[in-house]
Amino acid sequence: MIDCQNILDNTYQKVLKMEHVGDVASYIPELSTVNPDQFGVCLITKNGEQFTCGDATVKFSIQSIAKVLSLSLVLSKIGDKLWERMDFEPSGTAFNSLVQLESENGIPRNPLINAGAIVMCDIICDLFDDPKTALLDYVREVSGIKDLQYATDIAASEQATGYRNYALANFIKSFENIHNTCNQVTDLYFHLCSIEMTCEQLAYTFGFLANQGKQIKTDMKVVKPAQAKRINAIMQTCGFYDEAGEFAFRVGLPGKSGVGGGMVAILPNAFSIAVWSPKLNKHGNSYRGMKFLEYFTDETQDTVF
Ligand code: GLU
Repeated sequence: MIDCQNILDNTYQKVLKMEHVGDVASYIPELSTVNPDQFGVCLITKNGEQFTCGDATVKFSIQSIAKVLSLSLVLSKIGDKLWERMDFEPSGTAFNSLVQLESENGIPRNPLINAGAIVMCDIICDLFDDPKTALLDYVREVSGIKDLQYATDIAASEQATGYRNYALANFIKSFENIHNTCNQVTDLYFHLCSIEMTCEQLAYTFGFLANQGKQIKTDMKVVKPAQAKRINAIMQTCGFYDEAGEFAFRVGLPGKSGVGGGMVAILPNAFSIAVWSPKLNKHGNSYRGMKFLEYFTDETQDTVF
């Protein structure tokens, strides 16, 4: 991409100079200890070229961004059978909402809200004897981070305070859309959310979605090309909770955010970009992350629209 580093640097400086509003997530106590002024960016092209700004090598909690990796794992194992257990429609509600499950009989709206990710964790518990190890091994393979570990302090912090997630698991189980015990499923869910990566690692990990399902550099076939298309479509419509429309409007790329302040966005057949800044707007998405990607895609016109 012509002048990519320059455009990234200029966009970074522009966002740095703006008012920095929002709050770090504190409902998971361990997340509130992060330095809120950290700000990193990494873009990786499908040819493996890499461009970075700021704190691109600092590890942070990727939280819900990891739901995309549970989705790629489940899709690669059971394919379209997944859609017997959940839908792929935007929810228009908060990430941890219970409200639609009552009228929709325990079928989550999509895999990227908490309800959907909890059902995917149930499927992973069915698929593997040791689901926590299998999931970690899978993320290690896709990301190439051989020594990746769960951040057990973050998982424990959420385990102690994750009342809504316990409620979601129990509520969905009452509709028989969870087969394992709620404790097994929420334990896996909290560990999934605890994974930490740097912007560099995150942008690389998501490279397969910019490369028709094949990981860049290693050529690992993570998902089929048609499945990569579907994951991108789900990220586009459901990746930013009740702000998915706003993200499409401002940024115009498939993407996924997490309450750790990270977000990743994909331009299919071109690049994957990760941005991290811990202060969140009122919808739970990184304040600076949204601004950065909006200005970047306005400038480059690298958007799907
Ligand atoms: N672990 C977080 C939760 O379940 C994930 C939320 C997010 O990043 O959207 O509340």
